[in-house]
Amino acid sequence: MLFDTHAHINFKVFDNDLENVVKRSLESGIYFINVGSNFETSQKAIEIAEKFDGVWAVIGCHPEHLVDDIKEKIFVNGEEKLLTVKKEIFDYKKYFDLAKSSKKIVGIGETGLDFYYLKPEKHDIEKAKQLEIEVFKQFIKLAKELNLPLVLHCRGEEGKNYEAYDLMLEILSSELGALGPEPKGVIHCFGGNLEQAKKFIDLGFYIGFTGIVTFKNAKELQQVAKEIPLDKILIETDSPYLAPVPFRGKVNEPQYVRYVAEKIAELKGLKFEEVAEQTFNNAKNLFNI
Ligand SMILES: [Zn+2]
Repeated sequence: MLFDTHAHINFKVFDNDLENVVKRSLESGIYFINVGSNFETSQKAIEIAEKFDGVWAVIGCHPEHLVDDIKEKIFVNGEEKLLTVKKEIFDYKKYFDLAKSSKKIVGIGETGLDFYYLKPEKHDIEKAKQLEIEVFKQFIKLAKELNLPLVLHCRGEEGKNYEAYDLMLEILSSELGALGPEPKGVIHCFGGNLEQAKKFIDLGFYIGFTGIVTFKNAKELQQVAKEIPLDKILIETDSPYLAPVPFRGKVNEPQYVRYVAEKIAELKGLKFEEVAEQTFNNAKNLFNI
C-alpha cells in the first residue's frame, strides 16, 4: 500500500475520467487525499471523498487564488478550452462550516505563500504579499480551532525560494503558539534547503516530496530526502501536475506516487517496501486516519 497525500483529482481536468482515475489508484493499492485549491474545489474534494473508501479531503485556498483570476487550460472531449477561475475573497465562517460538513475532511489547506507569479507590472507586490500572509494566518487559526493538520504550499519569487521558506517558518513559529507534541502538518512539495527542512520538522511538520525528486536536476532536493528521517517524509503526486520520471510532462495521477517512493528508497539505500510502509504510516499518523 502507498499513500499519496496530495492530489487534485477534484480538478476539472479529471471530470471526464474521474471514476477511472480513482479506481486505477485504489486497485493498485494507493490511497489518496484530494486537496482543495479554493472553495469550489474543496467542496468537490469532499464530494469525491464521500463517494469512495480510501479517499479523503483537505479544504483550503491556494494563495494564488486570493490575488488574481486565474486562466486554466482544460481539455473537454479532446478540445482545448480556457477556463477562468475567479479570485476568492476568503471567508473564515464558510470554511469553518464546510469543515464541519464531513468526517472525511482530514486537514486544512492548501494554504501558505506563493510569490512566484507576482509581477511588478501587474501587481502591487507588497499588498499582494500582505493579503496572502493575512489569509494564511486565518487558516492557521482555523486549523487550530478545528484541531486539524495544515497542508502548506510555499514558493518564493524567482531565485528567492529560501526567503519565502524563512518567512513561512517565522509565521508558523509565531502563530502556532505553544507547541504540543502532536504533528502539525506537512510542507507540501518541499522546495527549501536541508537546514530549513530540519527547522520545519522541529516545529512538528512532515516534509512532502513530489515527482520533482525524480528529476535529474533536483540534486539539492534529493539531498534533503536523503538526509531527513524517513519517519518525517510524506509522498505526494500533486496530480495533475509534476508527473515523475518516466511520465514527466504528462497528466499525473495518484498511482504514479510509487515512482516517488522508489526514488526515495534509492536515495536512502532502503528497500521500496520499507519506504512504502513507513510513509503510509506517516500519512495515517498525521491525518488521523
Ligand atoms: Zn497542490
